[in-house]
Parts: sequence; structure tokens; C-alpha cells
Amino acid sequence: MRLLGLEAKLDLERELAEIESGNLVRWLTALPPNRLTAASYRELLAHLAEHNDWNMRFLDRAALGRLGAGAFLAVAQGNAGNDAGIAHLSWRPKGRSRPDVSLVGKGIIFDTGGTNLKPFRAMLDMHQDMCGSAVALGVLLAITRLRLPLAVDCWLAITENRLSPQSYKSRDVVSAACGTTIEVIHTDAEGRMALADTLVLAARERPALLIDYATLTGQCINALTDRYSGVFTNRRELEPLLVTAGRRSGERVWPFPMDEDFDEELKSSVADVAQCSVENEGDHILAARFLRKFVPEKTPWIHVDLSSAARKKGLGHVPAGPTGFGVRLTLALLTDHASELAQVTGIAGDLR
Ligand SMILES: [Zn+2]
Repeated sequence: MRLLGLEAKLDLERELAEIESGNLVRWLTALPPNRLTAASYRELLAHLAEHNDWNMRFLDRAALGRLGAGAFLAVAQGNAGNDAGIAHLSWRPKGRSRPDVSLVGKGIIFDTGGTNLKPFRAMLDMHQDMCGSAVALGVLLAITRLRLPLAVDCWLAITENRLSPQSYKSRDVVSAACGTTIEVIHTDAEGRMALADTLVLAARERPALLIDYATLTGQCINALTDRYSGVFTNRRELEPLLVTAGRRSGERVWPFPMDEDFDEELKSSVADVAQCSVENEGDHILAARFLRKFVPEKTPWIHVDLSSAARKKGLGHVPAGPTGFGVRLTLALLTDHASELAQVTGIAGDLR
């Protein structure tokens, strides 16, 4: 289709895939937390998997215990029920096995802050803390709809972060699936705990590119407002591609530093790494440095801190509330920048 005044041809199929996937993200993010529970989320994923020819397995708490995923389990142990876990969905075009892209999402159904309980206003909208998982799912759906020749894995870390006698505490020391030990500092920094194990499991399948999405830090909103999201990567060459893909798609992102000396703030005297710093200064950068410890250096990795996951006054074409931010950005990166991306990551080349 061609519209008057528009130079490029309008790719209606792409528009429809982005709209459907973006709306899925917005709907899931808006759902009340007693309706979108870990159990009902799992059921919904099974339903979507059946209708879209995705493989699905769900690593429940017992399975994660066998894998030694103590960081995720530290967060999940405060839940009333036993339905938390990591969902693994996969989409494979014609007999391919190794994933081109692995999408990881933070799916905190409701974040009370845990033992370090949040005050009322800060907790009010914490049913939206699962947004990163919805974005990962939305990207998988869009890729499936467009039949892009990409093998995709999708890993969703689904749990609540609750206050209970079983909740994890400051100064607990837990061990992630890779064996790295973590000293807990603040139980409200649960997202990076849940993601640490999820990244370890996702990276074991040796994806050409690993992307995670998370409503991770308040500091990222302080730094960028809710008009932009923050991006962090272990491949500096990807930064200009991300910025351009953001402008092109209307989902703007800005890269932050990832220098090694930030790790001084994450030193622990009792574990390999501290979960966060006590001072919270530059927490969005420290969170990214923390996550990087769970991604092998050989795996090209992008971390998206979704500071623009929701915006009262709306953002771009979205009038209000959850924005669905992340789907268009990722599609722009994977398709409009496919050849540049291939040079850095070894992901399949021309997708257009
Ligand atoms: Zn939190």
C-alpha cells in the first residue's frame, strides 16, 4: 500500500504485527494482579504456544531447585503459592536448533518490595512490574506473525515479590545457577535476582544475540524521564544501531556506560558480588553491571531498562498508560538494521 505524502511503501503486515504485539503487551501490563497471577500467566502462555506453534516448558520451583537457580528462588520463596517459575518458549523455522535471538523478560506479577517494603505510592502500580516479560513475549509474537527466518527463544521470569515470614532478607547469601554467590542488600532489587538465573539459562543455549527487558530501576527514570528507555550492551558497536532503531521506530533509547570500575560498588566481603549498592547512586548502571556477570562475554547482549514502560500522558501513538514500549524498537533493530547487526552478532543477515 502507498499513502500520499509518504515516500516509503507502507509495510502493512509489519504494522499489523506491531500493533497486535504492542496491544498484547499493554493488555498484559494493565491486567489486575489478582487476575494475572503466575498460574494464569502460565495458562495463557500455554494457550498462545499451542496457537502459534511454539514449544513451551515451564521450569517450576522444584526444577529450578535442581538447576541451582538460587537467585530466582530467593525472590519466589516469599510467595504464598508455589506457582512461580521460568517459562521457556521457543520458535524454530524449519529444523534450526541454535537460537538466533533469545529474549528474556522480568515478570514480577506484583512487587511489594519484599522485606524492604515499599511505601503506598511507590507500590500502587507494581502490578506493572511484569512488563518486561510481556515485551519479550510481544517480540516473539511479532517475529512469528512476520515469519522472520529467525530461531527465537523467550525466557520469562515469573514470580511475585512479597513480604512474608519466608521472604528473603538483607545480607542473605544465595547462589545462582552458574555458581556465582550473591549477597542480598535490598529486597526491592528483586528484578536483577530473578533475571540473573534466567540470563544464565538463556545463555547456555548459545544465542547469537541475547536481549533482556525489565522495568528494573527508578534511577533510569530519574536519568531519562519516562519518555526514553535506557540501553546497556557488552558490544559498544551496537549502541548507535540501538539509538537509530529507537528514533526510527518512535521508541527512543539512550545508552549508558558499562565501564568495569563501576564494579567497585558491587564488591562484597562475603560473596562473589553484592546485589546492589547501599547508596543506590547510579543504580541503573550498577544493575546492568550486575546482570553482565551472568552473561558470558562471548554472547552479544543488550539490556533494556524500560523506564518508558508506562506514561500517564501517553507516548507517541499511545494515548495513556502502559506503552508497549520495546516491540517496535526490537523489530526495527532486527529487520531495518539486520546487516549491521549481523556484523556484530553473527545473527542471520538480510531479513527484509
Ligand atoms: Zn522491586
